Amino acid sequence: MLILKLIGLIGGMSWENTIDYYRIINEMVKKELGEWYSAEILLYSVNFEEVLQLQNQNNWNELVKLMIIICKKLELAGSKAIVICSNTMHKIATEIETEISIPLINVVDETAKAIKSMDIKTVGLLGTKFTMEGNFYTEKLNEKYEINTLIPGKSEREYIHQAIYQEFAKGKFLESTKEKFLRIIEKLIKKGVEGIILGCTELPMLINSQDVSVPLYDTLKIHLRAAVDFSLT
Ligand code: GLU
Repeated sequence: MLILKLIGLIGGMSWENTIDYYRIINEMVKKELGEWYSAEILLYSVNFEEVLQLQNQNNWNELVKLMIIICKKLELAGSKAIVICSNTMHKIATEIETEISIPLINVVDETAKAIKSMDIKTVGLLGTKFTMEGNFYTEKLNEKYEINTLIPGKSEREYIHQAIYQEFAKGKFLESTKEKFLRIIEKLIKKGVEGIILGCTELPMLINSQDVSVPLYDTLKIHLRAAVDFSLT
């Protein structure tokens, strides 16, 4: 029997979405290893109210402290790597990485590798305002991986951000919202993007590859694929 490395997941952002993480990581392990294999996981699920308040106050220093405490608990309990189940929280990934002694499986790096492997040079990025307007995706993609990123216009970013928190994070996926997202994606394609990063873990529940004419990067699946690969080596 194969022994899997224990992965520490930090979820609850939102808990509805963490259910997808839990289901999909187990489906991946089962597909890879066989019927009764399942992922070795420790899940620390945060109180999202606390995280949201700090995000909205732009108090990322407190969020760094909170994440480090949780990572240390997961490490002490035996985790061999950390997966933070949110793109947005990767805004502070560098600060967290320097304070912990186990690897943080970084969704931005893993997504960049997936884009690179398809030799795509320009991508569109959808996510929360923190993700689209911060530089932790765009700068890293550009400087470390030579990938250009385009983001939607200001009012579209506002719309996407609100839809994520007011609908998707509460498990609500509406056809009318999907149509608006597809129009935003079409505009990005017209501007020259060759692929779209679904840079928010709720977005793959709204849009799939049949809906769009360019490759979609599902950050939830990319992230978990990397976690499963880590767990198996
Ligand atoms: N799940 C979302 C993401 O992937 C956002 C939730 C959050 O604010 O952390 O970015």
